[in-house]
Amino acid sequence: MIPLTHPASALENNWFTVDALDDSTFGISEYGQWMKVHSYLFVGTERAILVDSGLGVGNIRTIVEELTKLPVDVITSHAHWDHTGGHHLFDRFSAHILERDWIESSWQRYTKDIGNWLVKEPFSQEPPPQFEIKKYMPFHAKVDRLHRDGDVLDLGGRKLEIIHTPGHSPGHVCIHEEERGYLATADLLYKGVLLGGLKFSDPEDFHRSLLRLREFFPIGKLLPGHGRLNIENDLLDEAIEAFGRLAKKGLLKKESGLHEFDRLKIQL
Ligand SMILES: [Zn+2]
Ligand SMILES: [Zn+2]
Repeated sequence: MIPLTHPASALENNWFTVDALDDSTFGISEYGQWMKVHSYLFVGTERAILVDSGLGVGNIRTIVEELTKLPVDVITSHAHWDHTGGHHLFDRFSAHILERDWIESSWQRYTKDIGNWLVKEPFSQEPPPQFEIKKYMPFHAKVDRLHRDGDVLDLGGRKLEIIHTPGHSPGHVCIHEEERGYLATADLLYKGVLLGGLKFSDPEDFHRSLLRLREFFPIGKLLPGHGRLNIENDLLDEAIEAFGRLAKKGLLKKESGLHEFDRLKIQL
């Protein structure tokens, strides 16, 4: 990873950590909150794509504008509040049709719990001074545009493909860049506790989506949605094997509990 000496990190009270994965691809991480969320910025010659916008604790747009002056489109990996917190700072965003209801209306049912969840563990870094937990609200808005499986986004000089990967949530997508070998997996794959037992999760879809990601291998680098930024590519094999083992034992269903494996856990 190329160390980044960039003034962006001086903004927003150091809430964000920016890692340059190459000269035009950036991981934007929020290590100060226990979920350690990552968003990713892909910069082309004509426009840029921001995959997810983080927690909404700091202003991610100021960071993005330090990294590119091009127009930015936001892609929603899925509708959960920890990946859409900065969406309101941008002119437009897209989401999968199966996430639309969540973004436009279902968010209301979860508002109270989300603030508690955000600070379930104390922040390990000072949030920006303007942040107030009492005013914290999950993002909701009319979805501007829909994206779907197989869509190819041309940024000028580079292309990203949308892969529909339901399981964690119904309209969850991963983002693949064949030429540079990036695969952004959001909440489908990271090092930590994979969540397949949430209200709209489907453990069997989760398994199928992981299997589908294999079609895109070999890849250069996985870009996870949480936890450590650098994860081993063969974590996918372990996840697939783990889901396979649960299926064999008849445990691949909701409320079967927390299952522990070598490098990851699965909560169903
Ligand atoms: Zn999620
Ligand atoms: Zn998440």
